[in-house]
Amino acid sequence: MSGYQRITYDPQFKPVRNIYEDRLRQFISKGGDYADLNLPRFYDKERISLDQKHVNVSWYQVPFEEGSNPVSPDKRPSWSSVIEGERKGKLEFKKAHIGQPFGPSWSTTWFKVELRVPSKWVHSGEQLIFEWNCNNEGVVIDPDTLLPATAFSGGERKEYLLPKSNSGEYCFFIEAGNNGMFGCGDGSDINPPDNNRFFHLDSADLVWPDKEARALYIDFWMLGDAARELPDDTWQKQRARQVANEVMDMFDYRDRASVKKCREFLKEAYFDQFLDSPEVYYKGDSQQITSVYSIGNCHIDTAWLWPFAETKRKIVRSWASQCTLMDEYPEYQFAASQAQQFKWLLKYHPDFFNKVLIPKVQQSQFIPVGGSWVENDTNIPCGESLARQFLYGQRFYLRHFGCKSDIFWLPDTFGYSSQVPQICQLSGIDKFVTQKLSWNNINSFPHSTFNWAGLDGSQLLTHMPPGNTYTADSHFGDVLRTAKQNKTSEAYPSGLMMYGKGDGGGGPTREMLEKMRRIRSMSNKNGNVIPKLNVGKSVDDFYADILAKTDNGCKLPTWEGELYFEFHRGTYTTHAELKKLMRFSEIAIHDLEWLATKASVLFPKHCKYPINEINELWEDVLLCQFHDVLPGTCIEMVYKYEAVPMLKEVLKKCALLQAEVLKALNKVGTTDNNTYITTLPWAYPELTLQNTRGHEARIGEDKDSYVLSNSKLQVTICKETGVIVSVLDVLTNAEYIDIKNGRNKAGANQFVLFDDKPLSWQAWDTELYSVNQYKNVTNVKNIKVKSNDAKCCSIEVVFSISDDCEVTTEISLNAVSAESRELSRVDITTNVTNWNLRNQFLKVEFPVNVRSEYASYETQFGVTRRPTHYNTSWDVAKFEVCCHKFADYSDFSKGVSILNDSKYGFSTHGNLMRLSLLRSSKAPDAHADMGSHTIKYAIYPHRNGLSAKTVRSAHDFNLAHRYKVPMAVATKFDHLLSISGDENVILSNIKRGEDDKALNSEYSLKPREETSIIVRVYESLGGEAHATLKLNLPLHKVLKVDNLESKVLVPLEVSKEGLVPIHLRPFEIATYKFIF
Ligand SMILES: [Zn+2]
Repeated sequence: MSGYQRITYDPQFKPVRNIYEDRLRQFISKGGDYADLNLPRFYDKERISLDQKHVNVSWYQVPFEEGSNPVSPDKRPSWSSVIEGERKGKLEFKKAHIGQPFGPSWSTTWFKVELRVPSKWVHSGEQLIFEWNCNNEGVVIDPDTLLPATAFSGGERKEYLLPKSNSGEYCFFIEAGNNGMFGCGDGSDINPPDNNRFFHLDSADLVWPDKEARALYIDFWMLGDAARELPDDTWQKQRARQVANEVMDMFDYRDRASVKKCREFLKEAYFDQFLDSPEVYYKGDSQQITSVYSIGNCHIDTAWLWPFAETKRKIVRSWASQCTLMDEYPEYQFAASQAQQFKWLLKYHPDFFNKVLIPKVQQSQFIPVGGSWVENDTNIPCGESLARQFLYGQRFYLRHFGCKSDIFWLPDTFGYSSQVPQICQLSGIDKFVTQKLSWNNINSFPHSTFNWAGLDGSQLLTHMPPGNTYTADSHFGDVLRTAKQNKTSEAYPSGLMMYGKGDGGGGPTREMLEKMRRIRSMSNKNGNVIPKLNVGKSVDDFYADILAKTDNGCKLPTWEGELYFEFHRGTYTTHAELKKLMRFSEIAIHDLEWLATKASVLFPKHCKYPINEINELWEDVLLCQFHDVLPGTCIEMVYKYEAVPMLKEVLKKCALLQAEVLKALNKVGTTDNNTYITTLPWAYPELTLQNTRGHEARIGEDKDSYVLSNSKLQVTICKETGVIVSVLDVLTNAEYIDIKNGRNKAGANQFVLFDDKPLSWQAWDTELYSVNQYKNVTNVKNIKVKSNDAKCCSIEVVFSISDDCEVTTEISLNAVSAESRELSRVDITTNVTNWNLRNQFLKVEFPVNVRSEYASYETQFGVTRRPTHYNTSWDVAKFEVCCHKFADYSDFSKGVSILNDSKYGFSTHGNLMRLSLLRSSKAPDAHADMGSHTIKYAIYPHRNGLSAKTVRSAHDFNLAHRYKVPMAVATKFDHLLSISGDENVILSNIKRGEDDKALNSEYSLKPREETSIIVRVYESLGGEAHATLKLNLPLHKVLKVDNLESKVLVPLEVSKEGLVPIHLRPFEIATYKFIF
C-alpha cells in the first residue's frame, strides 16, 4: 500500500482504443502531414543525389530496332562483352540524369556508376548504401570479377549495401532490362504488353543511413501490426497498442538520441533482447509448438509476361540478391526449383554458379528443391513427359549438387494429375508442396496437411501453406494467417509460410528477414498468441516434424485422386498450335527412341544411339511444359519467337534423327524387300483388298441424307444440317447417337460457339455461365461427297462462321477386315480457316445414346473418372475437364469413345459429349489462336464398357506412323522386344539406359560397361494384370527399376527363352531395365 495515494489529484482516462490505434500509423509513415515530425526524419544521416561528382552515372543503350525480334541474343549481350567494350572505349556511355527515360520495352540499358564517398562518411565506419530506382529490373556487376552483387527492381528492391572501402571510391555496372518485374502489360499486368514503354530514373543516391532509426521503423511496424491484427480478446493486442503509444510519446523529433531510448524501452516492454539478431530463434519457451515454419523462395515463372530470354536474367538477378542476403542473415534459408533454371545459370554465369551458389548449397542456405525440369503443367503433358520431368530434373541435381530432391515443389500450376503421386514416388520423391487450390472459385479445399493418394494408391505427404500464397511478404498478418487458417490443425498444428517476392522472381528482402526476427521476438516475450515463427529450419525439417507428430502421416486425412483445380479451365484449350506441337513432339521423340534403341542394340556397328541429341530434344519439350507456356497463358512473344519455333525445331530434328536411323537400317538389309513398321506394341491392322472383301466402305444417298457404311457401322449425315444423325451398329442394331433427347437434338459433329467472357484472366478461364450461352453453327455453305472408294468414303461439309471464317469438316468411314471390324470408327478431320473471333469458344458436340454417372478421360498412363451430373458443387466445378487421347462415355452395354489427335478440353454431361476445339482470348496474348487450324478426332462406338480397345484405338489414332525398313530388319525389330498377356497392359516407351557407358550421356551418373534397354509399361484401365515381356537377345539380367533408372526395386526372373513374366497393380507404371 506504501506508494498508493489516498486522494486523487490527477485523474486518468482510459484511452479510446480506435483513436490510439489509428494514431500509430503517423509514427513511421513517409507520407501524410507529419513525416518530418516523426521517425522518418531520422532514416538518413545524410544523402547525396546524382550530382556527377559524388555520384556519377553514365549509360549505354544496347541497339534495339523497332519491330525486331525482342529475344535475339544481340538484345542481351554478355556482361563481359559490354564491360570489355566500355574499357576499350568502343561503346558510347553518356551522362545520365534524374527523370531520364530508358527503353523501349524489352531492350537493355547499361549503366556505369562511379561513387566518391565523402571522407566523413567513410570514417564513420558505418554501412553505406547506394539507392537506385529506375523502375526496371537491374543487376549490379563487379567489373573486375564479373560477379553479380545484388539486384534492383524499383519499389521493394532498390538498395545496394556498399562493401567497405577505405578509399571511398566505387565503380560498378548495372545491367538493366527494360521491363518491370511483371513485364510490360499495357494498363494491367495481364494485358498484352505495351512494346513502347520507357522506364524513368527516379533515384541514384548515395546514402548514409541511420541504422538505429531504420531498426526502430521495423520494431514499430511489427508492434503496430500486433496492435491492429491480434484478436480483440487478447491482452497482447491491448498491450501492443499501449506500448506503441508510449513509444510515440517518448520520441522527440528534435533529438536523434531519442530513437535509441525508444528502442531500449521496446526491448523491455514488448520484445526480448534478441529482436534484431539470429539468436532470437533459439530463445523463448522451448516447450511451445512452432506455429509457423518459414522458407524463403522466389517463384520465377520460366516464361509468362516475359520471354525465356528475360528469365535467364531474372534468375541471376534474383539468386544473386539471395546469396548476398545469406551473408548478412545466417539463419536465412532459400529454396529454388527447376533444374532448367540452374542449367541456364551454369551456362551463362558459370563463375557465379560455382564460386557463389555452390558454397551456399553446401552450407544448406541455398536449397535446390522440386526435382522436376521445370515447374510443369501436370494436366496436358503425356505420362512419359511427366516421367522425364523428374528423370532429367533429379539427374541434373544429382550431378551438380550431389543429392536429389525429395519434395515436389509446385506451388503454382493449374491442377494436379492423379498420376503425380506415383510418378513422384518412382522418382525418389514422397513430399509435395503446393497452394494453387486456394484459388478455387467454387469449393474450398478442406485440408492443409494431408496424404494425397493418386490413381494407383501411391501417396505423397502434402502441405498447402495455410497463408494461401507462395509470395508472402512476411508481414505480421502473413504469419498470423499461416497459424490461424490451418485447416487440419487437429492432426498437425503447424504451417509453412513461403515468403519472398515472386512470379517475376525477386525473392525475400532484407526487410522481410528483419520483420521475422521481430515477430519471433514478440512471441518469445508475450507467448504464442503471437505465433511462434521459425526461420532457419529447412523444408525437410518441416516435413520431418509433420511425420514425427502424425505417426508418419498415418493420422493425416487422405485425398484420393486428382487435385482438380476449380479455375483456369480454359488452359486445356488456349493456344491450340502449341498443344498440338506438344502432342506431336512427344510422339516424334517416342518414335525416335523406339527406332534408335532397337537399331543401336541390333546393329551397333551401323547405328549409334544419339542419346545427347535426344536428351536435348527432351529438354526443349519439357521446358515448353512450363505452367504458363503449355497452358497458353504467356504473352505473344513467347509463342511467336520461342516456344512454337522450339517445338517445330524438335519435330524437324526428330525427323532428321529418325531418317539417319532408317538410312543406316537400309544399309543393313539392302537385299531385302522393304516393308512398313510402326512403333505400336501390337500389330497395326493392315487392310488389303483380300481381307476387306465383304467389308468395304460404301456411300448411299437419299433426298435427305448421305449414308456411309461398312460391315459394322452405318453413319447417316443430314444433308440440310451437315451433322451426323445416326451411328448404327449393323450387327447388333445398337444406335449410338441420341437426337431425341437432351439439349442437342441436331446430331453429332455439331459445331457450337459459346460466349466466352470470363470474369478476368481471359487466356486462363472459361466460366460456368458460358456453358449456357451458345449458338449452334448451322450455316451450311456446301455439302458433298469427298471420296468414294472401297477403302474409304467421306462427306465434306463447309460451314460459315463469319464473313471470312469457315469450318470444313470431312466425315469418313473406312473399310474394315473381319478381325478389325470391332475397331471400326468414324474419322473426322476439321479445318478451321481464318479463325478470327473475339471471346468465342468453339466446341464440337456428340449427343450419345449412353447414360452413366461418370465418364472416363485418358490421363497420364491411365484414366480419370469424372461425374456427368451436377449433384454437388464439387461436381458442378468439373464442367470442363482435361482429357488426353480419348474421352469415353459408357454404360453397361455400350459406349462411345471420342478420340483426338491434339485436344485436351472436354466435358460430358447428361447425354452430351463435347470436345473443346478453339478459344479466342485476347489477354495476355491479343492474337492467341487466330489463324487456321486442322483438328482430327474420331467417334469410336463400342459394345460393353470402356476396354483396352479404346486405349488401343487412341494409340492407333495418334501413333500409327509408318516407317519403311528392309523386311529382315522388320522381323528382327518385331522379335527383339515384345509383350503378350492381358490387353490392359501397354508397352509405352523404350529407350537406352542413361548410364550405358558407351553412350556417354550428359545425364549419366554411374557409367557402366553394359548395354541396356529401359522399357516403360503401364496398366491402363485400373485392374490387376499379368503379361510377359520377351527380349530376343542373350540377357544378362532384368531389373525392375525406379523412374530415375538408378534404384533397383526388384530383380526379375528370366526364363531360358528370354521370357520375363510381369505383374502390375491397377494403374501401375513399371520400368524395366534389360541388361545384356
Ligand atoms: Zn507461376
